Amino acid sequence: AVYLDNHSTTKPDPRVVAAMMPYFTEIYGNAASVSHRFGWDAAEAVDHARGRVAEAIGADPKEIVFTAGATEANNLAIKGALPLLKRRGDHVVTTAVEHKSVLDVVERLGREGGWNVSIVTCDENGLVEADAVREAIRPETVLVSVMTANNEVGTINPIREIGALCHERGVVFHTDATQAVGKLDLDVQADHIDLLSLSGHKIYGPKGIGALYVRRRDPQVRLKPLFDGGGHERGLRSGTPAVPLIVGLGEAAALAIAERAVDLPRIRTLRDRLEAGIRERTSDVRLNGHPTARLDGNLNLSFAYVDGEALMMAMRDVAVSSGAACTSAEPEPSHVLRAMGRDEDSARASLRFGVGRFNSAADVEYAIEVVAKAVSTLRVHSAAWSA
Ligand code: PMP
Repeated sequence: AVYLDNHSTTKPDPRVVAAMMPYFTEIYGNAASVSHRFGWDAAEAVDHARGRVAEAIGADPKEIVFTAGATEANNLAIKGALPLLKRRGDHVVTTAVEHKSVLDVVERLGREGGWNVSIVTCDENGLVEADAVREAIRPETVLVSVMTANNEVGTINPIREIGALCHERGVVFHTDATQAVGKLDLDVQADHIDLLSLSGHKIYGPKGIGALYVRRRDPQVRLKPLFDGGGHERGLRSGTPAVPLIVGLGEAAALAIAERAVDLPRIRTLRDRLEAGIRERTSDVRLNGHPTARLDGNLNLSFAYVDGEALMMAMRDVAVSSGAACTSAEPEPSHVLRAMGRDEDSARASLRFGVGRFNSAADVEYAIEVVAKAVSTLRVHSAAWSA
């Protein structure tokens, strides 16, 4: 089987696994234990990892809060920041293409939390225009959350511009950079970012670990913790630090930055070959996502006259995702593709390919073959195709 679902998660890099191992077997102290060597060694490893994560986004190590992943980081950013901003205003802006761990949080605050919410839409390529964000901001806006790059269609948003306009208006800017870290040149200073979420398992690190960058020395950027406890992570995230996972995240972040110049062009070449190969063999294929402002590994295609679910089934040997998010029992057409103006059928008949560090040219050729066969088989049985 060929793995082409690298937006969903990535294979942990063997170097990451090797870096983590000693922290399971030998260096098992509690990083919060200050009275003995076991604790000191663990704390040192956590500090080292914190520095590596910070460096990947141009932050100070003191600005990194380790969480259980990007879902928690997004929740902490929004639910943590808003209570302390309420005296300044009651309006929040986010976008229709966010991951559910942003969109559902904001929508719930709108329903139950007494917040006014604006959901900015995207263009037909999934791009959130800075002007659209500018128009949504009101005098009472206190927080804007716009993702750096989209997890379904890979579209990259103009977050530097959006960050700048937020800061001109004194609005706190959060970005979910889960899909972008290690893939784009991110710098929290130059990009005017106050809060940034990231995750280990999207960058060849372990699952269940992520981080939130929280800008320091800005009275506006203060958070209320999601849970009470021992006051770890500067009081923002209580709970014994997951030392092996934190070490893994640090290693993964450092590798992503160190190898980006080699990895990304290779991944892009494979991705472009995948698209060209599929198009050579298959007609009526439409690209979802921005033609140029797109993550190197992303390829999201709609195949006319086929059912996405059936297509997925027909190509089980190639791991991809479909535009019908199977997060629930009832597959819903993707909210991202719908926001881009795709109709339900087109959204359902879409596949998301994610090319990653461990893919080879052979993987891509195999996938082209499997997709072409699956689509043509399904179209033979499609009344719309033969009509
Ligand atoms: N945001 C985005 C853009 C993502 O792609 C994902 C993972 N699908 C998340 C947040 C959630 O990350 P995690 O799995 O670390 O909670």
